[in-house]
Amino acid sequence: MKRIYLDNAATTPILDEVIDAMMTVMKTNFGNPSSTHSLGQEAKMILEENRRLIAQELHVSPAEIIFTSCGTEANNLIIKSAVENLEIKRIITTEIEHKCVYETVLDVQQKSSIEVVYLQVNKKGDVDLDELENVLKTSDKTTLVSLMHANNEIGNLLDLEKTAKICKDNQAYFHSDTVQTMAHLKLDFSQIPIDFASCSAHKFHGPKGAGFAYIRKSTHLKAQIHGGTQERSLRAGTENVVGIAGLGKAFEFSVEKMAEFSEYIQGIKDYAIEQLTKNIPGILFNGRSAEKEKSLYTLLSISLPSMNPLIGLQLDMKGIAVSQGSACSSGAAKPSSVLSKILPEQVQQTTTPLRISFSHQTSKNDIDQLVNALREILGL
Ligand code: PLP
Repeated sequence: MKRIYLDNAATTPILDEVIDAMMTVMKTNFGNPSSTHSLGQEAKMILEENRRLIAQELHVSPAEIIFTSCGTEANNLIIKSAVENLEIKRIITTEIEHKCVYETVLDVQQKSSIEVVYLQVNKKGDVDLDELENVLKTSDKTTLVSLMHANNEIGNLLDLEKTAKICKDNQAYFHSDTVQTMAHLKLDFSQIPIDFASCSAHKFHGPKGAGFAYIRKSTHLKAQIHGGTQERSLRAGTENVVGIAGLGKAFEFSVEKMAEFSEYIQGIKDYAIEQLTKNIPGILFNGRSAEKEKSLYTLLSISLPSMNPLIGLQLDMKGIAVSQGSACSSGAAKPSSVLSKILPEQVQQTTTPLRISFSHQTSKNDIDQLVNALREILGL
């Protein structure tokens, strides 16, 4: 059975060239980057070359890229350290952030006396930037705003530039979880007054276990993991040189191919919208998912016109991998926390949500097979 992978927002297959780059490092550069001998320094060079490559693309200084084990760690480092070291007294965020932001905010709130303000999100999943501005103006408490760039369940995009400007004009720090958009959309942080962002290599054909936090130099965060002075004392622990080599290779590849791939993948998404609409009467597209420019081109969130909690399993048995909600919630009985916030109760009780997510390896034939399988399962 040919397997069809349509869950690229959960993770992406590693590219052969990424595996090759990692194998070379694994075989020849086993030194500890903190060692002063030449084997150690060769490993150190690999770290610094990849840091430079990423920094150049984002138009930031290499010192502002701090390698971490994943996007979750990067977001934890940023939020926890900002609260501890920047005298943050208030966090403004939403209830539809990824769990690694949402839960971290709850954790810091429990451990300190900071105020947390959740911005309203409408039925389309939009964050109201006028509300953000109004809330910022209500108090002069030192504030961290944390709003994700692209929602991992519905794909809605935030206007990063506008949001960053509102934060800057109101003297607030701005963090964006950019895990779904790094290496998928062009990001130039010399033009966007953002303080913190995050990245995870496995979202763009790199390895799991490698990511980074972008931390603007002037913000003076401090480590959450203590020990040695690695990563400019912001993240102790011997660096994952092999993983970072893979991260760098995947980043370089994705950025080089961004124009070509984004056009191709948007074409696949358009085709999926067209075929699903034509073949599944009553299908709904969640949030801004089906709207160009307003949603990420790699992701489509749908609600099928009947309740069937087993649909993910039934598709899996036909060799098709998609997500019911998001990877984090797909195994859970509870509905996705994002969809339960934005979909009307009646829709939640009569439909089945699915997240379909694409990569440059997805073909129109994959979409045809998905549509056929869905029609079969739905008895159409
Ligand atoms: N933030 C977003 C928006 C995500 O989609 C994910 C992964 O699903 C993460 C953070 C966590 O990244 P990681 O899997 O590298 O911990």
